[in-house]
Amino acid sequence: MLPVLQSVINDLRKRDPMQYEFHQAVEEVWHAVNTFLEHNPRYCDQSLLESLVEPERIIIFRIPWVDDNGRLQVNRGYRVQMNSAIGPYKGGLRFHPSVNLSVLKFLAFEQTFKNALTTLPLGSAKGGADFDPKGKSDNEVRRFCQSMMNELYRHIGPTTDIPAGDIGVGAREIGYLYGQYRRLNNLVEQGVITGKGLAYGGSRMRTEATGYGLIYFIAEMLAHIGDGLKGKTVCISGSGNVAQYAAEKLLNEGAKVLSLSDSGGTLYVKDGLTREMLETIKQLKNEERGRLEQWAEQHNLTFYSDQRPWQIACDIALPCATQNELELDDAKALITNDCQLVAEGANMPCSNDAIIALQKHQVLYAPGKASNAGGVATSGLEMTQNRQGYFWPAEQVDAKLREIMQQIHADCLTYSPAIKGTVDYQCGANVAGFVKVADAMIAQGYL
Ligand code: NDP
Repeated sequence: MLPVLQSVINDLRKRDPMQYEFHQAVEEVWHAVNTFLEHNPRYCDQSLLESLVEPERIIIFRIPWVDDNGRLQVNRGYRVQMNSAIGPYKGGLRFHPSVNLSVLKFLAFEQTFKNALTTLPLGSAKGGADFDPKGKSDNEVRRFCQSMMNELYRHIGPTTDIPAGDIGVGAREIGYLYGQYRRLNNLVEQGVITGKGLAYGGSRMRTEATGYGLIYFIAEMLAHIGDGLKGKTVCISGSGNVAQYAAEKLLNEGAKVLSLSDSGGTLYVKDGLTREMLETIKQLKNEERGRLEQWAEQHNLTFYSDQRPWQIACDIALPCATQNELELDDAKALITNDCQLVAEGANMPCSNDAIIALQKHQVLYAPGKASNAGGVATSGLEMTQNRQGYFWPAEQVDAKLREIMQQIHADCLTYSPAIKGTVDYQCGANVAGFVKVADAMIAQGYL
């Protein structure tokens, strides 16, 4: 690795020794842009690189809320405002017990390059709380969201910072958060948050966008090698927003979905998930907030407790749950089973050694910052519609989403090094995002 890149990583490890996920994310980007920087010394400036890895601002705050037993509970809330060189801070909120500063800094760092890739004027951020919505009543979730917004509202706005959903933050939480923001400000400012319901300023297709966008992206990858989705077998992890709509689009395209998962384990459907099964899983996860294990039992289907889906033979693997859920041993199992393509629906689901193994064995690999960018891109379209005070039909949003994913794919090709005819999507995506943000920072005096 270039000494300047190594030096920035070494400093990060010294300054924030426990932020392993953040170090991992920076290392992944540095590894991918290394060769490009060797040939483009303009970007080898230590201060520029240090600015890229240092958030512009971090807000950490207390979130007190009253549970159903009348007891005051306290959680920790965060907003990492990473980089506003190309637009207002933009990135989701995550509610999960594993949320800490390292996780949010890695997510905000990833978001910087992803948002640049969308071609829209979006800076980067990420936030959330170590709150676990699992097992909480609607009233508890509402009181929590309102209390979180009682602090967050000071730091966000339609032209400063625009949060959205992520793990544990879906339509219900976004509604409660936006309602409290509106109340505190006495203003209807719909562009302050995205992922809103259609009744109060949301965009058609935002719910579907990350999963659908992922499938549009892999359709491009396959088309590039003269192949297609029809008849492919696909393993998906997760059963939340991204996984559900990736599965839905795959069924539309004639592929066979063999698995979904949650933190309890993996549902295996040997003959492929049907549309009816998927609809009941959506109901289970989005309304009843139930577990896949019980659902599998009720439907007489196989469930592998505490296991990931990657031992199941498939043509395509789509990790759509969380970070580091596909590690070296999982990659080896996929390689042994002749998996052709791995594309990230989640953020950083593949560990760095897993990525290296996949690439070494010519498995096509798409990093999340390219393949899952459809969600934030459609959030950008939601912001545009909010500014216009007008809503586009679903077909228009979907066509625009597809066009953006095709453009991201084309940008990956432009910046991919030409090695033996295969595309290095990891290099292509990282360099394309890096160049855009770095150019904006240089033009503005690094800020
Ligand atoms: P959801 O909360 O809707 O779903 C998350 C899914 O992942 C659930 O099935 C959950 O299972 C599972 N999961 C979470 N943590 C773990 C874990 N530690 N081990 C195993 N399974 C786990 O989130 P989303 O679908 O919105 O997000 C999934 C991923 O996609 C995240 O990495 C997110 O950052 C990324 N992403 C999301 C976008 C969006 O628009 N929603 C946009 C771009 C990226 P359980 O219910 O048991 O916890």
